[in-house]
Amino acid sequence: MFTLDFMTTQIVFSDEFNKHDTADHPENADRLYVMLDALEQTPFYKKLQFIKPEMISEKLLYEVHSAEMIERIKDISEHGDSWIDLDTYVCKSDYETARLAAGGVAQVCRNVIKGDAQNAYALVRPPGHHASAERSMGFCLFNNAGIIAHELSKKGNRILIFDHDVHHGNGTQSIFYSRNDVMYQSFHLSPHYPGTGAVCEIGDGDGKGFTINAPLGFGHDDRAVSQLFDEIFLPITKQYKPHLIIISAGYDSHHADQLGGLKLSANFFGEMIRRFQDIQPRIVCTLEGGYNLQWIGKCFLSQLGQMMSHPLRFDDDIKGNDDIKTVITSMKKELGNYWEL
Ligand SMILES: [Zn+2]
Repeated sequence: MFTLDFMTTQIVFSDEFNKHDTADHPENADRLYVMLDALEQTPFYKKLQFIKPEMISEKLLYEVHSAEMIERIKDISEHGDSWIDLDTYVCKSDYETARLAAGGVAQVCRNVIKGDAQNAYALVRPPGHHASAERSMGFCLFNNAGIIAHELSKKGNRILIFDHDVHHGNGTQSIFYSRNDVMYQSFHLSPHYPGTGAVCEIGDGDGKGFTINAPLGFGHDDRAVSQLFDEIFLPITKQYKPHLIIISAGYDSHHADQLGGLKLSANFFGEMIRRFQDIQPRIVCTLEGGYNLQWIGKCFLSQLGQMMSHPLRFDDDIKGNDDIKTVITSMKKELGNYWEL
């Protein structure tokens, strides 16, 4: 039997992702460069297996997203930069760049499911979790995690998408809302963009009980989210028994993020990985939000260090609100018919 030390962690990255860039937008190319710089300083950098992404196939893209939405991105991408809503921009060649991001996430997920890697990190842009089947929005063009979750679930795998971005992943939730082969779990700030993710949103039809939402008020901290893990997220994950966990890794839930309002410490991002590893070590993280360039590198390394059995600690103690009882009680009431809680 192999120990974790002999297992591979893959990382998928390409400079091509940074063709998607509008410098004064918070979701810009500097984010990936800051994270790569932080990575190069670590003792485990040389042990990582870097993978070059390939574009997701159009066939798979059309299975998840509407033709109208795809063709809109394709059209803008051919002609040059344009904003498709107040906060989402499309750059020249973004049809290729966004397919490259989705393709990168897909490759490492397939590798981890096959056992070619123990776990992986998809260092990709643009992000994906706000993109629904019919609409690109919230800095997201295509739903990177959702596209590969769709493919792998069709092959008989149960997939958990866990989303710790400060914003609710409305796009991912809506794609799988009526399905029980892909579970969506999220905690997020509420009220906040995009306005979805209430406790009572638990799925529809066959999907009832397979969408799990923990909306948190301003300032909730590591201790609050830790209780959610103990009482809701982990017990449900143990019963669901996923073959793969895809983490929508948004670091805007860190306390210093300018678009956030939760109070998580950098160290807690690795801690969340540790908790899930005990249940299913096949984990792929895919980058979503996170805009504080002083901190996203540390949040990222906290997760990657944990994935590589080389946990790192950062000097980042912060306390906020740990009172989570009301949220947990109402979640148990909504989900108790579907899971032992
Ligand atoms: Zn976000």
